Amino acid sequence: MTTSEPERKVHTKRTECRVCGGQRLRMFLSLGPMPLANAFLRTPDEFETEPRFPLDVYFCEDCSLAQLLDVIDPATLFRNYIYVTGTSATIAAHNREYARTVVETLGLGARDLVVEIASNDGSLLRCFQEHGVRTLGIEPARNIAEQARAAGVDTVDQFFDAGLAREVRAGYGPAKAIIGNNVLAHVDETRDFLRGAKDLLAEDGRVIIEVPEVREMIQRLEYDTVYHEHLCYFSATTLMRLCDAVGLKLARVDRMPVHGGSLRIWAGVRAAHSEDACALAAEERELGLGDFGRYERFAADAAKNREAILALLGRLKAEGKTVAGYGAPAKGNTLLNYCGIGVDLLPYTVDKNPMKVGLYTPGMHIPVLPAAALAERRPDYALILPWNIAGEIIEQQEAYRRAGGRFIVPVPEPKVI
Ligand SMILES: [Zn+2]
Repeated sequence: MTTSEPERKVHTKRTECRVCGGQRLRMFLSLGPMPLANAFLRTPDEFETEPRFPLDVYFCEDCSLAQLLDVIDPATLFRNYIYVTGTSATIAAHNREYARTVVETLGLGARDLVVEIASNDGSLLRCFQEHGVRTLGIEPARNIAEQARAAGVDTVDQFFDAGLAREVRAGYGPAKAIIGNNVLAHVDETRDFLRGAKDLLAEDGRVIIEVPEVREMIQRLEYDTVYHEHLCYFSATTLMRLCDAVGLKLARVDRMPVHGGSLRIWAGVRAAHSEDACALAAEERELGLGDFGRYERFAADAAKNREAILALLGRLKAEGKTVAGYGAPAKGNTLLNYCGIGVDLLPYTVDKNPMKVGLYTPGMHIPVLPAAALAERRPDYALILPWNIAGEIIEQQEAYRRAGGRFIVPVPEPKVI
């Protein structure tokens, strides 16, 4: 970190790679000065003073990690965090399957402790409780930790670091499984985080971490998974390198379809990385993920996608068609801001999460209405912002479609369904 002031700055910029410490970092994608993707606004009075920060993605020439260097202080970033995991049926099914897999693979019993870092509203740990194991959640967003406790999931409302790892170990004993779903990519001090997890881990335990996979992001043109919270974009190659740095080795790697493509690693204290991890790293090299040129091509394709989306929305508007958004996810805010889609092209969006209804999207200030507004107002087209779960949404909105409504899936190429 470049800051040395005693008071924490909201925005700082790193100069070193989070995995290898190298300084040969080259930018390949600039999404522009961007508001925080989860900082929804309550009233139009807030539009004028809304903060924006650089959102640029860099490639490390030494270890190939794709990452942001601009860091927003977590206290600011997660202050109004309103992503609640319970809202997607796909994710709920994923959680049940996840808990079953971990319990069976590690042979967990009633005395074993499962710790989840960034446990959100406790929905995943509740699935573990059904198997009779002990659970502890760690969730820094106080309002959400409170929800988890109310649902019967013991939860510590602090950020996870080496100090907290020691406290938890002293109070609860070592953990047989330490789970981190979509949290490793969000922490600035990546190596310290993993070192803390290793310290809390039982000797034969596993750190099981799920992160979005850079391979999927690059191949499926998911540039909208870039936002300030999401600091690192990992591959098997970079995860192996990271584990090496803290004395862990991969015991297994799974490629998962959730969140538009994720990697789940099982790391422990072992002599060497598993064969499947090494094979995956070899595939990544074949695909060019170790080369800067592949990332440059990705950025050029993102710019083309922006032009195509704007052309489609412009044409529909000229034809007098009405278009609304479906969903108000963080990724949607990257897409809307990068493309410059405002209320002139998208007068409102709808969302099932009641905590988002009545708010305005960051940057483009699109009002969020309840999901029922889609059936009531019947726009001609609905632009699906969480397009990674488009299939699920289209199925749920059968009534809208039967009444003549059509969907637009914006990425990798805008497609009307
Ligand atoms: Zn590096």
